Amino acid sequence: MKAPSVTEQMKAEEGTERVQRAMAAQDYDPAAPRCATCVYFKHEPLVRLVERTLDSRHGKKTRKVMVRLRPHPTRNPMVDRCTFGNFLVKPAGVCNEWHSRSGERIALETAP
Ligand code: SF4
Repeated sequence: MKAPSVTEQMKAEEGTERVQRAMAAQDYDPAAPRCATCVYFKHEPLVRLVERTLDSRHGKKTRKVMVRLRPHPTRNPMVDRCTFGNFLVKPAGVCNEWHSRSGERIALETAP
């Protein structure tokens, strides 16, 4: 017989009255604001750019362009990125731009 997964154990435990009382006493928030629950959070392959030299069609001139490497399971590992500021983040991090999918915010919008 297969042992229950951690998620199944948590769901079974959350149903008990003792656990519900403890969660209420501790004001437990299962979906606290963090990058992992933000609309701008994206789990994606790391983008690697390489420089390529292109020959021009009619002359001797060549030009260099940056080309995205195709995602690869080991050379382009999966990373967590903030699509608002375009930088790598940690799932447990948070900033003032946090938006939930239902539109909640943690900081007031400031005029520029
Ligand atoms: S850094 Fe801020 S805006 Fe970007 S994903 Fe994290 S909480 Fe969202």
